Amino acid sequence: MNTPAGPTGSTATTTATPTRPATTRVSTTTPSPTGPPTPSRPTTTPTGAFTSTRSGIDTALAARMSTSWRAGCPVPLSELTYLTMTYRGFDGEAHTGEMVVATAVADDVVEVFRQLYAAGFPIARMRLVDDFGGDDDASMAADNTSAFNCRRTTSGSGWSQHSYGRAIDINPVENPYLSDDLVLPTDEFVDRPEAPGVIRDGDACVQAFASVGWSWGGDWSDPVDYQHFSQNGR
Ligand SMILES: [Zn+2]
Repeated sequence: MNTPAGPTGSTATTTATPTRPATTRVSTTTPSPTGPPTPSRPTTTPTGAFTSTRSGIDTALAARMSTSWRAGCPVPLSELTYLTMTYRGFDGEAHTGEMVVATAVADDVVEVFRQLYAAGFPIARMRLVDDFGGDDDASMAADNTSAFNCRRTTSGSGWSQHSYGRAIDINPVENPYLSDDLVLPTDEFVDRPEAPGVIRDGDACVQAFASVGWSWGGDWSDPVDYQHFSQNGR
């Protein structure tokens, strides 16, 4: 399976920001006047600020997107936007991910990922599905967080909301798709343990999407799609 390395743009921004959320582990290094000096230790707490960029789909990117978009797709490339956004990895560090979404929802998507980063919600990787040949199964197996992919729904009925760039899948390994006996991509987290990257009802991830009016596939009954958020609830 083609599993590219994670984003190389590890934005080790050194500027400390005081806006770190209270939920983040903060190493207490307040020196005691009487005790020994606190030994310094490597910090894994990212201190970089959230950043994002956006651009249209230029010729080079269109060529790269040859596996996720083709003539006949419901949305033209001219109505899609390429985003880069900071995310927190499972290593606790800040990384730069990329995502293609509908231009109409780009502001909302950036706001969601700004909140996820502030909350310290970890994301495994964030690459275009084209890095996995446009193959949703391969992208899910690689635990890839992604949005646009012009494809049918997993059940095969009609265009997926991903075809419109108005749905996002988060950490598919930790948040599988369930339908009857089918579990995709793996049943490792099917019991919904309280573990990093697992989306749970009412948590920071669900709240971030709810703040822009998107709803969660974890609230569906059949299928149950724990990784899936969409603007129209489908
Ligand atoms: Zn989805």
